[in-house]
Amino acid sequence: MLATQDVCPSNGAELGEELKRVLHERDLLDLQAAGLAAQFARTKEYDEQGYATAIDWMRFNCQLTSTGAADLIAVGENLHRLPESVQAICNGEIGFAHMKAMARTANAVGSKFDEAALLEKARENSPGKFYYICRHFRHAADRKGFESEQAELVENRKLSISTCEDGAVLVNGVLDPVGGAAFRTAIEPLARKSGAHDDRSLERRQADALVELSSGGGSQAQIQVTSSIETLLGLAGAAGADMEFSLPVSSTTVERLACDSSIARILLDAESTVIDVGRSKRVVSEPARRALTARDGHCRWPECERPASRSAAHHVVHWIHGGTTDLDNLILLCHRHHWMVHEGNWQIVRGDDGRMLTIPPTMTFGSFARGPD
Ligand SMILES: [Zn+2]
Ligand SMILES: [Zn+2]
Repeated sequence: MLATQDVCPSNGAELGEELKRVLHERDLLDLQAAGLAAQFARTKEYDEQGYATAIDWMRFNCQLTSTGAADLIAVGENLHRLPESVQAICNGEIGFAHMKAMARTANAVGSKFDEAALLEKARENSPGKFYYICRHFRHAADRKGFESEQAELVENRKLSISTCEDGAVLVNGVLDPVGGAAFRTAIEPLARKSGAHDDRSLERRQADALVELSSGGGSQAQIQVTSSIETLLGLAGAAGADMEFSLPVSSTTVERLACDSSIARILLDAESTVIDVGRSKRVVSEPARRALTARDGHCRWPECERPASRSAAHHVVHWIHGGTTDLDNLILLCHRHHWMVHEGNWQIVRGDDGRMLTIPPTMTFGSFARGPD
């Protein structure tokens, strides 16, 4: 009975102890693997078997990622410089994860490496925190080397943008730590949930945030659209509109972009003349925008609090259909909710008590399901 309990712990405390024991054994095995990996890398066996590097051989023959293989080799190559750290792993004072950071640091700073000083920090800190401490140590020991490493990461910035057959745009890239931080600082506030009802995934919210950022955040992106008047009016049978850097877009998209005046100019396709609705009729003036901000404060969608600076001035009755830029005809909507009202076919109406109500799209397939106007 006791023996069975040893093998299969049943309560939380026992499970915790068992987990610690198993992971400690894994750390010891990782140490052993590191020693073997470094020795293997010194032979040319991988070359004879047709692999470019020992890391490649390990990727395919040991089912490792290249980082995992490189970590093992780095630790193995430095075992002779890290005798006290090896002992600390055997004693269970630090983990193999600490050892990886230690070995990478030893490789980076060479003769300036100080095992005793770092081991003391490793004992006191989690592997994640210790990794940061090692970065600081590298900077302190070899500022020039650290800087050139950072500069190299900047040189290695990459962003590829390609268009799929259906017009979807694939984005893939790598940023250096500082550039990445600037990017995240810009994206993350915009990618927050817009309320308890916001059920978009994190990836979707980040993508929405990138589009919002690229659209100028406010309303001043200089998008140029070429469209026929039939398309603008959303008439049945009208072609789509042409937009720079995009496949043809729908009339509701043009309508939304035109709604908050984020279109710089709308050209008619036939004669390429600028549509003259009268700029004052379609562009919300600065004083009107200020009054709107003061009245609404933030997006008026129920339970959405996206600030005015991140919202568009939505025309309840679109200027295409004769709506004015008077305050009565405007409400603030954040970019997501503005999209939902136009392309998403939601309706937003003012209830008798002055509160805004939303009506989900009805399930009709056609061009007449949309809009409050
Ligand atoms: Zn609108
Ligand atoms: Zn909103």
